Amino acid sequence: MLSQDTRIAIVGGGLAGLTAAVALQKIAGVRATVFEQSNKHDEVGAGVTVAPNGSRMLDKLGLFEPIRDAGATPDGHGVYLDALGNVVTDAAWEDSAKKYQNVGIFRPDLIDILAGAVDPDMIRLHHRASSVELLDKGVRVHFTNGEQEDFDAVIGADGIRSVVRAAVGQQTGFVYSGFIAYRGVIDAADLPRDWNRISQTWMGNDRHLMTYPLQQHKLYNYVACVPSSRPLHGPWSGPAQVSEVHAEFERQKWDPRVHEFLSHIKETFWWGLFDIEPLTNWSRGPIALLGDAAHSMIPHQGQGVNQAFEDCLTLAYFLKEADSVSDIALAFRRYTAVRMQRATILQVGSRRAGWMFDSQFQFTDTEKRDVDITSGRDFRRAAVFDYDALKVAEMALKRFKKL
Ligand SMILES: Cc1cc2nc3c(=O)[nH]c(=O)nc-3n(C[C@H](O)[C@H](O)[C@H](O)COP(=O)(O)OP(=O)(O)OC[C@H]3O[C@@H](n4cnc5c(N)ncnc54)[C@H](O)[C@@H]3O)c2cc1C
Repeated sequence: MLSQDTRIAIVGGGLAGLTAAVALQKIAGVRATVFEQSNKHDEVGAGVTVAPNGSRMLDKLGLFEPIRDAGATPDGHGVYLDALGNVVTDAAWEDSAKKYQNVGIFRPDLIDILAGAVDPDMIRLHHRASSVELLDKGVRVHFTNGEQEDFDAVIGADGIRSVVRAAVGQQTGFVYSGFIAYRGVIDAADLPRDWNRISQTWMGNDRHLMTYPLQQHKLYNYVACVPSSRPLHGPWSGPAQVSEVHAEFERQKWDPRVHEFLSHIKETFWWGLFDIEPLTNWSRGPIALLGDAAHSMIPHQGQGVNQAFEDCLTLAYFLKEADSVSDIALAFRRYTAVRMQRATILQVGSRRAGWMFDSQFQFTDTEKRDVDITSGRDFRRAAVFDYDALKVAEMALKRFKKL
C-alpha cells in the first residue's frame, strides 16, 4: 500500500476526475488533489446514461444507490424505431444477471453526487494546468496562473482537449463526425399521460432523435443529431434556437410522436460531436490518462463516462498493489495494458453506432441497418454491460505476476 503522504494530482474535476479521486481514496488509500480549471464543478443541463458496467463500478465506491435514486430507471427495455415509428428492435437495458439497469441522470445531479464524495480540502478550483513535466523524480504541474507544484504522480482527466496527453508522448488531432447534437431536457408533465417511460431512438435518413427519462421520470433528456458543418467555423458548442430543431425535423416524414416530443422543447443548445483517433499509449512513468483525455468517443453507445468509471476503478486497483512511489509507473503500465483495448473497441464501435442511427455509409441500406442493430443488442448486453472491469484487473494481475 502507498503511504498516506503520497502526492498524486488529478488534472480535471469533471465526471472522470472526481470519480478517480473517490476510487483512489477508497481502494488505494491515496488522497489525491483534484485541480479543476473552472471556479465550480459544472456540467451541461442534459442527461447521461449510467450503464450496468458503469453502475457495477460505482457500486464498489458506494455511489450507485445515490445515483440511481437521483436518476431514473426506465420502465422497461428501450426501443429503436424507424422514422415512421415502427419498432426495429428492443434495446439492451440491463445486464444478464438483471442486477443493474440503465439509469438516466441529469448531469448536474451526477456531478453534485461525485463532488460531494470528495473531501473539499482536496479540490483546488480555478487551477488550469498549462503543461506537465516529467522530472528525474516525480512530476511537475505548471498552471496558467504562474504557479507550479511537484507530485509523485499525475493523472490526466482533463477531457478531449487534454494538456496532460502531450506529457505521455501522445499528440492527436480531433476528428469531427460531421454531426451536431441539439441537447437539453423537457418537463415530463408536458408529455401525454401515456408517453412510453423508456428510452426511445427514432432513426431517420442522416439524423436521429433519442430520448430517455431522468430525475425519477420528472424530466426527459433528448439528443437530436443532425449533419452540420457549424463547429468547423467557430466554437464547438453554444446556445441554439428551438426553431432550428423543428426546422431540422421538417425535412422528412416522422412519426407524429417525434413532433409531439419536439413541440415541448423550451430551451436547447448545440454540441459538435468530436472524438480522437485511438491513442497508442496512455501512460509514461508516473503520468497516466483516463476518461475522455484517454479515449474521447462519439456518444452513440452511451459509453464515454462508463468507460471512465471502469478506468478509475482499474487504475485504483493496480495502485493498491504499489508499496512505494517507485512502483507507481508499473501500476500505470498495468492499467494501460488492461484498459486500452477495451476502450478502443468502444471508441470505434461508437462511430459505427452513429452510422447506423443516421443510416450512413453501408447502413443507407436500412435492412442491413436493422439486422445489425438487432444483433448489436446482444453484444451490448454480453460484452459491454456484463463486463466487470475489476474482475478483469484481478485476472490480469495474476498473469502479470507470473511474467
Ligand atoms: C451528446 C452527448 C451525450 C453523451 N451521453 C453519454 C451517455 O449517455 N453515457 C456515457 O457514458 N457517456 C456519454 N457521453 C460522453 C460523456 O459525456 C463523456 O465521456 C464524459 O463527460 C467525459 O468526462 P471527463 O471527465 O473525462 O471529461 P470532461 O467532461 O471533458 O471533463 C474534463 C474536466 O477537466 C477540466 N479541465 C480541462 N482542461 C483542464 C486543465 N488544463 N486544467 C484543469 N482542468 C481542466 C474541465 O473543466 C472539466 O471539468 C455523452 C457525450 C455527449 C456529447
